[in-house]
This record gives sequence, structure tokens and C-alpha cells, in this order.
Amino acid sequence: MGKGASYLLTVLLAAAVVDGGRAQQPSVPTDPGITGTVTPIGAGEPRASGLSRGSLDPAVSADAVRRMTADFQDCLARLWPLAARRGIARAHYARWTQALVPDLRILELMDNQPEFTRPVWDYLDLLVNDARIEKGRALLERHRTTFDAVERAYGVDRHVLAAIWGVETDYGALTGERPVLRSTATLACIGRRQSYFRSEFLAALEILEHGDVPPERLVGSWAGAFGPTQFMPTSFKRYAVDFDHDGRRDVVDSIPDAMASTANNLRRDGWISGQSWGYEVVVPASFDFMLADGRRRLSIAEWQRLGIMRAGGGTFPRSDDRAFLLVPAGVQGPGFLMLHNFRVIMKYNPAEAYALAIGHLADRLRGEGPLVQPWPRYERALSRAERLELQQRLAQRGYDIGVVDGDLGARTRAALREFQAQIGRVPDGFATAGLLERLRGP
Ligand code: CA
Repeated sequence: MGKGASYLLTVLLAAAVVDGGRAQQPSVPTDPGITGTVTPIGAGEPRASGLSRGSLDPAVSADAVRRMTADFQDCLARLWPLAARRGIARAHYARWTQALVPDLRILELMDNQPEFTRPVWDYLDLLVNDARIEKGRALLERHRTTFDAVERAYGVDRHVLAAIWGVETDYGALTGERPVLRSTATLACIGRRQSYFRSEFLAALEILEHGDVPPERLVGSWAGAFGPTQFMPTSFKRYAVDFDHDGRRDVVDSIPDAMASTANNLRRDGWISGQSWGYEVVVPASFDFMLADGRRRLSIAEWQRLGIMRAGGGTFPRSDDRAFLLVPAGVQGPGFLMLHNFRVIMKYNPAEAYALAIGHLADRLRGEGPLVQPWPRYERALSRAERLELQQRLAQRGYDIGVVDGDLGARTRAALREFQAQIGRVPDGFATAGLLERLRGP
């Protein structure tokens, strides 16, 4: 629960970029949401660092950074009264901050994030594979007693918890190595998200003051997310529990604490016990795709009456559950009926592709098979420049796309669907290179 996309994903994508053209990794670059792509880092505000566009406004000049860097110790001194109000001992504050120097590499990492836009199937390929499924199943078995107890206490499906563990950090194998106090102090004093990170810095101090996690273990991603399920310090404060009753809420080295804290987070975000996240479904070609707009929530039974079937031919276990229909890759790809819990997973990390990877990995860990329907792998993700052009061209044609920002959000998709309907195509809202080409025409 960390920072936009998962730490693991960030590492995988960085590796793919280093590999460059050699690796048969499809084309690149960014946008939260399943319009085809997702931002690897800082995709959204809630769990995320909120740094999707970098730490520093272009307006924050190199000079300003130098000034703020020179002022770092004074900044920490100014933060002391806030720390005191939270019960941090003076001597502790002095010890933890006196040798602290800003980690300027973080600012670089934030400002130079390559544009990694990829189609949704790339994310699923990267995050849900045989090795990750096998490892997850073994861990569910090894920690069966813990998962039994966590499920009883919080009513959150163990497979979803294990999937978050797997997707965030490859089950704790990759959690990041940056001291959280240093990262959050840097961002609390330098850059444009200082007030956001001030809270994270102060919450990190509280973790140390309470002795929940020892300083040398409080390490994580550059945005300050730590542990196997990547808690941000403020999320830790809200959700962490001492499930193994040793007196410390150790979400780093205690698997019971980490899993129970993650379950507590999901439950407090509204997890409905006994409900799945969603189902892969078959959408008939004659279906009215205008209904697949993410806002229309109908009962499963109502969707069935409209012709939606479960992929693979099974039945839906709970026909009264309300769901919305998502077709992440349009009419050519699989459809999904998404239940309330899908939204809860998205609160954990606000990207549809991320939530879909969690849901799908959870199903695989439970013993279900791969997706039944193929993805349209012949399509590619549009680059940022192409997405901006797509929006501009829709706007020029009189469609209301909101702000031209390169993010293919609900309004852009709605406009795209109207355009598709007008030219006699299936209005599935999936932005393809072909559609952009068509928009360039008369
Ligand atoms: Ca504990």
C-alpha cells in the first residue's frame, strides 16, 4: 500500500526499460486506468506519493532546490515543535535527524520517470505469472494458521491479501532500501509536496518513537512506502495492528502483523466479506457497449438478462451483487463485471490495471485458471503525445473531453464512444492507433 503502482512493478518496468528495445517488451509510457495503461509510480493520490507528475514543478527551479537543500537542517528544526506535539522525545528527534542529509536522488527519480505506458495485458503478464502463482500458493500453505486467523478477524479473502503481498513486493523480496525517515524528511523539506510529506515524516517518527519498527528496518521505496505490503507511514498509523501480540505493530518483519494490517486497511475501506472482486465475462458482439461506462451498476442478474455470460461457462455465485462492466481492451478483449470489492482494491492503489492484477492473481492463487479470452495483443498503447492528440482531435470535433491532459479518463472515453458510435463502430471506448488515424481524417 504504497505509492501508486507497486514497488515490484516499478522495478520490473525499470528493468524492461534498461533492456531497451532488445527485450521484446512492447512500446512504452503513462496513465492510470485501464484505458490500456497505468502509471508505474505515484499514479494517484491516496496511497501514492501523489507525485505522478514529478516532485518539482517546472516552476521549482534548480536554484530553489539548492536553497531548500541548504536550508534542510533548519527545516528539520522548524518541524521539531510538530514532532513534539506528537510525543516524540527531544533526544530521539535529535538523534534521528542530526545526521540526516537529504536524498536528492529521490527528486531525480520523481522528475525523470520515464513514460511507461503499456497495454493492460503487459501489466498482467509482468505481475501474474507461474512463478508468482507458485510462490504465493506455497506461502498461503506455510502461513495457513495466520491466514485462517486473519480471515476470521477481518473477513477479508486471504487470496487477495496474498495477491497484494505478491504484487507489491514479490512477497517481500523487493521492498526498497531507502530509509523512510530520510525519504520523507527530504520530501517534507524540498519540492512541491512538502505538506503531504510532512505528515508522512511525522508519522514515520511516531513509528520509531513507539518502537513498532526499528530504524534499520524502516526502509522502503523512494516515496516512503515500506514492508511487504508497502505501507505509507500515515496508512500505518491508521491501519497497522499487532496481530501476533508481541507489543509491536511490525508490518515489516511479522507476517501476521503485515497481513492483518493489510486486511484491516481493506476492511476499513469497505471490503464486503464473502464477495469476490469481479468476474471475467463474455460480452456478446451485439451488446450495447454504451452500458460499459464504469458508472452504471446493475445486479449480476440484470447483466445476465442483457446477455452477459461468465467466461468459461460457469455460473455467478451471487446474482444480487451489484457490478459495473469494464472492457479494458474494448470489444476485442475480455470483459469484466466488477463488484464493490474491486473499488476497495482501487482505494489501496488507484489504478484499474493494478486492481485487475490483484484480483486475477487472487483467483489464480485460489486455484482458478488463466483468463479465458485473449487480449488484442496486436494493438499497442498510445504514447502520451498520441493521447494528447486524440483528445485535441476529439475536442476539435466538438466532443467534451474535459481537460486535454493525456489521461484517457471517463470523459475522454465517453467522448471516444460517442465518436465511435457516430462512425458506425462498436462504441467500446478503447483508444487504438486505428481510431487516432481515423480522427486525423476528414
Ligand atoms: Ca506484533
